[in-house]
Amino acid sequence: MNPPSVKRLFSFFLLMTLSASIFASETVKVQLRWLHQFQFAGYYIALEKGYYAEQGLNVELIAGGPHALKPIDDVLSGKVDYAITGSGVVIDRMEGKPVVALAAIMQTSPIVWITLKSSHIRSPHDMAGRKLLIMPPPESAELLTMLESEGIPREKLNIQNTSYRIEDLIDGKADAYDGYISNEPYYLTQKGVDYNIINPRDYGINFYSDVLITSEQKVKNNPEQVSRFINATLQGWEYALKHIDETIQLIHQKYAPQKTLDHLQFEAQTLKKLIMPELVQIGHMNPGRWQFIVDSYRQLNMTAADTDLDGFLFKEHQKTDYTLALKIALASAILLLIAGLVIIKFHKLSLELKKTNRQLEELTVIDQLTQVKNRRGLLEKSAYVLSQARRNGSSCSFLMLDIDNFKRINDNYGHPAGDAALINLAKIISTNRRKHDIVARLGGEEFAILLVDTNLDEAESVAQQILKDIQNSVIQCPNSRTEFSITASIGIALAEGELEIFWHKADQALYHAKSNGRNQISIA
Ligand code: GH3
Ligand code: MG
Ligand code: MG
Repeated sequence: MNPPSVKRLFSFFLLMTLSASIFASETVKVQLRWLHQFQFAGYYIALEKGYYAEQGLNVELIAGGPHALKPIDDVLSGKVDYAITGSGVVIDRMEGKPVVALAAIMQTSPIVWITLKSSHIRSPHDMAGRKLLIMPPPESAELLTMLESEGIPREKLNIQNTSYRIEDLIDGKADAYDGYISNEPYYLTQKGVDYNIINPRDYGINFYSDVLITSEQKVKNNPEQVSRFINATLQGWEYALKHIDETIQLIHQKYAPQKTLDHLQFEAQTLKKLIMPELVQIGHMNPGRWQFIVDSYRQLNMTAADTDLDGFLFKEHQKTDYTLALKIALASAILLLIAGLVIIKFHKLSLELKKTNRQLEELTVIDQLTQVKNRRGLLEKSAYVLSQARRNGSSCSFLMLDIDNFKRINDNYGHPAGDAALINLAKIISTNRRKHDIVARLGGEEFAILLVDTNLDEAESVAQQILKDIQNSVIQCPNSRTEFSITASIGIALAEGELEIFWHKADQALYHAKSNGRNQISIA
């Protein structure tokens, strides 16, 4: 070989090595919670659309099933990098396992008890003494929590490990079966079997599900990878839920050929309602809601541990928090030098840091202009309020209010005047609410009010009072003497069943009030 070609060969190898190192991606293993199905749509899409690849991740999805139910141990031993579990993972955390929750894909759990209609088992109370098939803990913790919370003595429960065979329910070998509301009902309907669903949510047990987890060690060693993995996954979910037909085609072709498109479509539509992509940022977790889940488990003796949740929720902005803490620590160091009150001052500052963090958390649920809750605040609070109401058997009402011809107000008096009208309106609504009612600005000039323990008649008179107060109030333009007033329209619906449904009903009612001439109330 002559020298020039050796040189060329050398540079070729150099180039290869360089490009290989640039495109080298990290391999990560993800343990799915069950067999391939729509339940993991976001992960398949993130792979298919190259979202993981864009983040430098080479992702391997491992199907779950009856023989892969130790995702937490597998994550902690490093056998897999990420896994999907139920909300019961928080019990393991409290009992000392260093797992970290990254995202909760389902805002509400799909896990329910399924019984045969012919068995007449329709409520938790009918389940005492019957043979109940359930997955090993912590997989279906919410099912046991419900029975416990309904006060059924544990010794009266005949709980057995599931056989994973719904046929055992059909054949009468078991009386209740631990299933997914998105899966078994389809199968039973196909077979012409009449069934009942006993849903923990109807008994005030409303937990997260399909929680993406990893180990604390991974978060410590490679927080960047964790962030990239979460981002690509959530991007995948967003796409999957916007393009359900395309996604189920992909799942049918590549992952679950045994499931019909019709079955996958049923699963997709059912799960979408639990993921609530229109209402909640996909994957969102609220520390308060996790605390509520923990308190439920604890109250019902599902765990004795009382460690706190510090470190359980992955914080993407750990870096910014860190600089904030650093600034405060620095400021405190100077203060300490001057005052010499080393310990006392430090203590005070750490309290302040806690307060700042609390304020930051509040910022995300409060509308900055009107200081009432924002959309997210409404969603977080209403889940709790509605489940309480359901438990007490009391009814709630949902009001949607929208300012009439607001665009004209802005056009005639200017945007700041429009803002003043919004602030004034929020005040009027707030003075008409009771302690537990929720008031939120949904965006623009649209407000929602959830009235607790209020039937439609009572809700109507509250709405009338609000409209009257609006008509009687005069708004002053900032920077000028001009005054003006506004009117609004209100739609009312009974707040029962799915939030999405009654929200829609109230919205329709509001639409009616508008098309009937505005400045009025319409009831769904
Ligand atoms: P309708 O009676 O049918 O509700 O008519 P509208 O004009 O109120 O309805 P539309 O939704 O067409 O207009 C809403 C306007 O609200 C458009 C936008 O300029 C204005 N707007 C949205 N957010 C704000 C805000 O924060 N401040 C102010 N001043 N105006 C806003
Ligand atoms: Mg309007
Ligand atoms: Mg509007």
